[in-house]
Amino acid sequence: MFEMLKKIFLMMVGQTKVEIPKIDKSYLGKLPSSSRVKPIKFGIIHCVSAWRVNPDKRNDIDEIVKIFKDYKVSAHALIARDGTIFELVSDDRVAYHAGKSFWRGKSSLNKWSLGVELVGAYNGPYLSEGFTDEQYDSLILWIKDKSDSYNLSVEDWIGHEMVSPGRKQDPGPKFSWYRLRQNFSNKEE
Ligand SMILES: [Zn+2]
Repeated sequence: MFEMLKKIFLMMVGQTKVEIPKIDKSYLGKLPSSSRVKPIKFGIIHCVSAWRVNPDKRNDIDEIVKIFKDYKVSAHALIARDGTIFELVSDDRVAYHAGKSFWRGKSSLNKWSLGVELVGAYNGPYLSEGFTDEQYDSLILWIKDKSDSYNLSVEDWIGHEMVSPGRKQDPGPKFSWYRLRQNFSNKEE
C-alpha cells in the first residue's frame, strides 16, 4: 500500500503540497473482524470522537480504540487529526462499522465494504472543529489507493448517515463531500 501511496503522491507533486501520510500498524488485528466472503463494493466514511468519555482526550487514538473495543466495533482505518493513518483491520477481513445499513439493493454493508473513521465529532460541543487539512489529504490518498485496488468510483464512497439514515449521523455536517469529489475529478484531468 505504501508504494501505491508514494506513486499517487508523485503524481500530485506540483499540484498540492500533500505529504505522504504516516502509516501506523500498531493496532492492526487487535479489533474485532471476521473473514471476508463478499467482494468490496463500497467504502463507508465515518467519524469518531471520545468527547463524551474524556473531552480533554477526545482526539486521542488510545481513547478511541478503547471505545471500539468496549463496543466491539472496528474499521479498516482510523485517520488521526495529524493525518496519521492507523490501520486497524486488514482489507481481507470484514470490519464492524456500519451495523444495520442499506445501499443500492444491498443490506448489512459491513460484508460489502471498507470502513474508514476520521477522528472528529459529528455533533456536540466540538463539532465546529471539523476535520483537518491533514485528515483530508490522508483520506483522499487512502481512498484513491483503495479505489484502484478494488475498482471503486467516487460514487461508491458514502457516509454512514447515508446508509443508516435516522440511526447514524456521521461523518456529519462538517465533512466536505465537495473536497473529496473535487480531488477525484482532478485525477481525471
Ligand atoms: Zn459511523
